[in-house]
Amino acid sequence: MGGRAAVFLDRDGTLHRELERAPRSFSELEFFASTGPALQSLSRAGLALVVITNQSAVASGDVSVTELDALHAELARRHPIAACYACPHHPERGFAPYVRACSCRKPRSGLLERACADLDLDPRRSWIVGDARRDLEAGLALGARAILVLTGKGERELASLDASLRARISVARDVGEASEQILAAQGR
Ligand SMILES: [Mg+2]
Ligand SMILES: [Zn+2]
Repeated sequence: MGGRAAVFLDRDGTLHRELERAPRSFSELEFFASTGPALQSLSRAGLALVVITNQSAVASGDVSVTELDALHAELARRHPIAACYACPHHPERGFAPYVRACSCRKPRSGLLERACADLDLDPRRSWIVGDARRDLEAGLALGARAILVLTGKGERELASLDASLRARISVARDVGEASEQILAAQGR
């Protein structure tokens, strides 16, 4: 597989604060201070930025597909993001047709695989950045390097990681520090 290097980014807790209720529009998002600059520098370094997000709020009926699509379109307009991929499913709770076991809900890698095929990306040259264990696992399964950020659920998730997974990832304070690690690894 050829393809560009990418940074796969979790959304909630990684790019912006986690809200009690899933956000239904872009204007509800509270981005972390380092998010904008981090995305700019990664993009300038030639990395494709792709948001990979579990949004079971669609399955539960809290957010419609139309709202989610509009939110992600705005996210990609305001930031140098190539595309946003969302899993709308939940394995147990919610409404048809979104209640089902799927291959796209992280820790499964379906969304990353779809992004790689659509955008000609090479996961083995890429990174995943997220605040949850399932983000890291979705990337590691495809050979990407993984960075856990300590925003969102990150602190709690770090405390619960087993040693073998901990040894395979790096940790960053936030998406800003994660971007510094990625650029340093690329020799920039
Ligand atoms: Mg998250
Ligand atoms: Zn899914």
